[in-house]
Amino acid sequence: MKTSNDHPSKILISACLLGHAVRYDGKGKPLSHLAIDRWKTEGRLVTICPEMAGGMPVPRPPAEIEGGASGLDVLEGRARVIEITGGDVTAQFIEGAEKALAFAKDNGCDYALLIDGSPSCGSVAVYDGSFSGRKHAGNGVTAALFQQAGIAVFSDRDINALVAATERSEPSY
Ligand code: SF4
Repeated sequence: MKTSNDHPSKILISACLLGHAVRYDGKGKPLSHLAIDRWKTEGRLVTICPEMAGGMPVPRPPAEIEGGASGLDVLEGRARVIEITGGDVTAQFIEGAEKALAFAKDNGCDYALLIDGSPSCGSVAVYDGSFSGRKHAGNGVTAALFQQAGIAVFSDRDINALVAATERSEPSY
C-alpha cells in the first residue's frame, strides 16, 4: 500500500457504479456517496467494465456462474458462465477480468470498488446459476482475479470500509 509520502493509491470502480450505461440491461447503477465525489476531484478513480472489455455488447442477455460456483471456480476451469439464453460466455468473462486487472495494474490501483451480485464484479454474493434470483456467498470472475493479485476489493455496500481502509493507509501527518 502507498502512503502519504507517495502518490495516493488509485481505486478502480465498476463503470456502472459511475452511471455508465454498460450493464446487461443497457443501464448504469450509479452510487451516490461523498467519497466518490472527493475521489473524482482528487483524480483517484479509474473505471472499466470488465464484461465490455471482454467483448460483450450492451445490452446482452443476463449471465450467471453455473451450479452455485464462484469466480475462482471459473478461473480454475471448474465452472462456466452461462447466459440465460444458454450461451457459454466463460471465455469473454475471463478475458474481461484479465484486461481489467492489467488496466488496474497500469493505473496503480491498490483498491477496487465493485458492484455486488455481478458474475464479474460481485465480491460478497453472486447469483447461483438458476436465474431464479437466488444468491449465495461468493465472488465474480473479475473480483476473484483481483483478490488473487492482491488488490483489496470492496463491494458497493462496503464503501465506508473502503473509505476507512484508504484513510488508514494514507495517514495525514
Ligand atoms: S461487468 Fe461490472 S462494471 Fe460491467 S456492467 Fe457488470 S457489474 Fe457493471
